Amino acid sequence: MPRIGVFVCQCGNNIESTVETKEVAEEMEKLPGVVYTCSYKFMCSSPGQDMFKKAIEENNLDGVVVSACSPHMHEKTFRKASEKAGINPYKCEIANIREQCSWVHPDKTKAVGTAKSVDLTRMVIERLKKNRPLKTINIPVNKRALVIGGGIAGIQAALDIAEGGREVILVEREPSIGGNMAKLSETFPTMDCSQCILTPKMVEAELHDNIKIYTYSEVEKVDGYIGNFSVRIRRKAKYVDEEKCTGCGACWEKCPFKSDSEFEMGLNKRKVIYTPFPQAVPNVPVIDAPNCPKIQKDKCGLCAKVCGPQCIDFEQEDKILTEEVGAIVVATGYQLMPNERFGEYGYGRIKDVISGMQFERLASASGPTGGKIQRPSDGKEPGSVVFIQCVGSRDEAKGVSYCSKVCCMYTAKHTMLYRHKVHDGQAYVFYMDIRSGGKRYEEFVRRAIEHDDAMYLRGRVSRVYERDGKIIVQGADTLSASQVEIEADMVVLATAIVSRTSAATVAKTLGIAYDKHGFYNEYHPKMKPVETVTAGIFLAGTCMGPMDIPESVMMGSASASKILALFSSDEMAREPITAHVNAMTCNACWDCVTACPYTAIDKEEVKDRKGNTVRWQAQVNPGLCQGCGVCVAACRSKAVDLAGYTDEQVYAAINAF
Ligand code: SF4
Ligand code: SF4
Repeated sequence: MPRIGVFVCQCGNNIESTVETKEVAEEMEKLPGVVYTCSYKFMCSSPGQDMFKKAIEENNLDGVVVSACSPHMHEKTFRKASEKAGINPYKCEIANIREQCSWVHPDKTKAVGTAKSVDLTRMVIERLKKNRPLKTINIPVNKRALVIGGGIAGIQAALDIAEGGREVILVEREPSIGGNMAKLSETFPTMDCSQCILTPKMVEAELHDNIKIYTYSEVEKVDGYIGNFSVRIRRKAKYVDEEKCTGCGACWEKCPFKSDSEFEMGLNKRKVIYTPFPQAVPNVPVIDAPNCPKIQKDKCGLCAKVCGPQCIDFEQEDKILTEEVGAIVVATGYQLMPNERFGEYGYGRIKDVISGMQFERLASASGPTGGKIQRPSDGKEPGSVVFIQCVGSRDEAKGVSYCSKVCCMYTAKHTMLYRHKVHDGQAYVFYMDIRSGGKRYEEFVRRAIEHDDAMYLRGRVSRVYERDGKIIVQGADTLSASQVEIEADMVVLATAIVSRTSAATVAKTLGIAYDKHGFYNEYHPKMKPVETVTAGIFLAGTCMGPMDIPESVMMGSASASKILALFSSDEMAREPITAHVNAMTCNACWDCVTACPYTAIDKEEVKDRKGNTVRWQAQVNPGLCQGCGVCVAACRSKAVDLAGYTDEQVYAAINAF
């Protein structure tokens, strides 16, 4: 006969307000095999844990059920305590009587909540009786990490892991690391020059012995599981030998052909052989093949003639590499909603209607105007600029219901930068409301209004059009309940931050989840904010949603610390909740192979001694299996069982209802 203990938690008043926990405990005492029960205010508290362990030892229990909150919250806590008290941790089960009972049954008579808690606890007790002791799985760990994305979050993660003594491969799709931060002029609220604080980190990453940077490269395939990933990387042809190139610039100085600069957001041209910006890391140019007449039509070839070390190679092809790593950080960043979607604000029609990022380039000392604020149409200094916030953000019609989080702050910064460079200029800001929740952020916005005289108008802009060489901005000022019409020389749109167009493809390659906006989902928004549902893959920065630079840096460091903890031992323990195939009943239909979302099931050939194939069967890779149970449902032969959730356990629970 089993010796089961039942511990019913009151969770302060969370459970007790709608569940008579003492009555639940008394009812459980009547069940065969239950030898100890109690109700306690906070089972997860330190005294609660002590009492839990003591009860196990004193009553010689061999299994426990804790009726409390969701297993997501405290399953680990109670399993650890059980182990310390001498019983197999998988002989400890949780009955969720909080989220699945007290919180959804507000009946103050406690009748409904108590009855349901009795049912739930009884079901788990019967299930527990069928539990077999399980052992954690130990997996060897490859202590190298991959960081995908070389923006500030990715750089920070790479540096922290490298400083922790581990090798890192940093993969960036652009010709240089730096990401969007490299395009910014100053940063709020401190107004430091963005490149001045970013480039030292870029150089540190380039020079770090533990970091290998692959720019102009993309991750194409990821196989394996936590501790043992195999990653296929495509290194796109740069047509320049990186090893030989000294970055002297002779090639791009002589190249006679130009194309729109992606880095300058179309405000300037760059050569066909180029580095995106002067502080690029690595300082090695790439040839824009579709626009190079030598590559397209075998004409020109000037760069090769002037290159001293002879590093131009027009025959170069993409290279495919495979890297073995133990953990991955995804830091692929964001993009802005295409401005072309804002015809109502004159974008694309009126040359002096630009995006916030284009304004950053105008204000940047390394930008196309050397930091002077000039109109794109005629190069004149604008005497008045209208800044429009929430362009696309918080706008269901544009498909973006969320707030882009940084626009209120960078618009305030833009008004200051403008006023510092055009002393008699007037900045107007149309806003819905100001969101400045950050350290010294509110004071920063006040400074823009009170010190730099930015005129803030609460309301929406209805129309932007041209009249007599001026841009007319029509809108409502809801505070004065009046219509306003402003003659402006330039209009700047704070466009919504959106996920990268490649976000879904990257998520599918990695097997991680994403939301309806294409931002990657964390495992738990509060308790596991940088983990993903796929063990060993972590998140950092704006690929998770809009965030500012300090948050991105924090996320990068948080992911790195998780990885360094994982790399601190040679082996890692995995939960043994994995699927198992019964070789005798598997009929090799491969339904489970197709159904498994983690590609954890292989087709295994069984051979006899002479090497002849006897049969085929499905085989689960325990390193990859996440215990989701999809294969169990998919298998028509009932050949798959999930350890910890066997058919026998599930039927026992159902029959106890
Ligand atoms: S070959 Fe292409 S990249 Fe080289 S100089 Fe000519 S146009 Fe420029
Ligand atoms: S439980 Fe089955 S479907 Fe789920 S991850 Fe494991 S093998 Fe794949």
